[in-house]
Parts: sequence; C-alpha cells; structure tokens
Amino acid sequence: MAQEQAINRIVELLSRSNNTVVVTGAGISTEAGIPDFRGEKGIYRTLGERYVLGILNIDTFRREPDTFYEFYRQYFMFPPVEPSPAHFMLAKMEKMGLIKAVVTQNIDNLHQKAGNKRVVAVHGNAERFICTGCGTRFKSQYVVEFPELIPTCDKCEQILKPDVVLFGEHIQNYLDARDLITGAKLLVVIGSSLTVYPLAGFVKEFSTFYQDLVIINKGPTQLDHAAAVKLNTDSTGEVLEEIVRRVELHRR
Ligand code: NAD
Repeated sequence: MAQEQAINRIVELLSRSNNTVVVTGAGISTEAGIPDFRGEKGIYRTLGERYVLGILNIDTFRREPDTFYEFYRQYFMFPPVEPSPAHFMLAKMEKMGLIKAVVTQNIDNLHQKAGNKRVVAVHGNAERFICTGCGTRFKSQYVVEFPELIPTCDKCEQILKPDVVLFGEHIQNYLDARDLITGAKLLVVIGSSLTVYPLAGFVKEFSTFYQDLVIINKGPTQLDHAAAVKLNTDSTGEVLEEIVRRVELHRR
C-alpha cells in the first residue's frame, strides 16, 4: 500500500474507533536521539546480543554489580533528551480523544515528558532507581552524581537498582498492558519489531481476533502479515503529524 493510501486508511480507522490503543517500541525514540537495540547503532549490532543479555540480567546485577553498573552507566544513563515530534503527536492525539492509552516497551520516560497521561510502561522507567534494602526511590540524577560506580542508598546504604526490567525479571503492569491491548478496537504499533515478549504476544493475541491492526515501523515486524495497514517509514513523527492534520481537517 502506498504511503498516501496507508495514511488515509489509518485516518479512517481512527475516526471509526472509540477504543484505540498505541503500542510503542524503541523505534519511536530514535528520532529523539536514543538508539534502538537492533538498528545500525544499536548495541545488539555493535556489541552482540549474547554479550548484552549476559550483562543486562538480574543475576549479573546481584552477583557482579560492578560489571553491571559499568555497562549500565555507559549505555543506559540516557543524556537528557527531549521527546520527538512523534511523542508530542501522541500526546496531542490523547488530548483530542483519538487514543485511549500508550503501552510502551521504552524506559526513556519520553511519553510522560511529552504529556501523555495514560502511559503503561512494561519495562520500567530509567529515570528512577529503587533501594534494594528499604525501597526508597531515587531520581537518576542521584546516581549520575553519586561519587562511586555502584550507587547506594543514603538511608540504609544498600545498593540501588534501576527501576527497569532486567532479563530474568517479570514485566511490570502485565495485566493492564494485556487488557488494554487485547481489549482495544484499533491497535496502532509504532517503532517496534514485535520480537520482544510478552508484549509481542499480546499484539499477536489481538490480531487473532480483530482486523484493525496498524503497524508504523522502519523495516519488517513479526506481525506484518496480520496488519490491516503496514506503513514503512523512518519518520514516525512526520507520519503522525500528517495523520493528525487530516483528522483535524476531517472534523471541521
Ligand atoms: P526493537 O529494537 O525490537 O525494534 C525497534 C524497531 O524500530 C525496529 O524494527 C527498527 O527498524 C524500528 N525503527 C528504528 N528507528 C525508527 C524510526 N526512526 N522510525 C520508525 N521505525 C524505526 O525495539 P523494541 O521492540 O522496542 O525492543 C527492544 C527492547 O529494548 C525493548 O524491550 C525496550 O525496552 C528496550 N529499549 C528501549 C529503548 C528506549 O527506552 N528508548 C531503547 C532501546 C531499547
């Protein structure tokens, strides 16, 4: 389907649906300056997936916190970036009543920063750290400024853990995410290859029962065959801006 046609179809589906949920992955944040894992600059390509999985897991965090934090500080303490136009468009779409919620695999806090009110983050939020001893929460700035490699709590001196889901841990907000996705009338996936479970499984479950799956992504995803519309783009911002522009025209 040509881009023009695809956008028209998405506008039509959005106007018809009263229960639209958006699912986002790392691809929505690359335009904001945060690389995805699988893309050209992603750490799966530059370092190798096995290497990354070997460090970014709960066992390494517990047994070798120094190895964990050396890696985490280098690759996951995101520099302060602003949301991309795509993030801002999703916030606008929520305000316009076009979308009900955003379910995201991202940990960069950019949907919240752009102004979306209903954000279900399944892999946590890199802006936060939690004390493994007393549960006190800290902002990432505390860790950035901490004088040692391994940050510890200023109350009980136990090690802090990033509030992100490491390999080997359960996702957060499992039921909310599953209910929103499988209960949606229209599902719009943006910037995800749909290879990371269980979220990809929820989308697959949705696609088994409903037709209205829209995928906006650069390159293939695991569920292209099930999508009513698949739009290939490397600028999700431009696509969403155009969609919003046409909905607004439609409403006049
Ligand atoms: P993924 O790497 O599986 O897929 C990202 C997809 O986005 C790819 O198909 C890629 O081609 C596409 N993409 C990249 N740039 C794009 C652009 N400008 N426009 C449109 N599409 C673009 O990502 P994923 O499915 O989110 O899974 C990776 C895991 O890594 C996630 O679980 C996530 O938690 C984590 N992660 C998060 C961040 C973040 O918070 N920003 C960044 C990297 C990885």
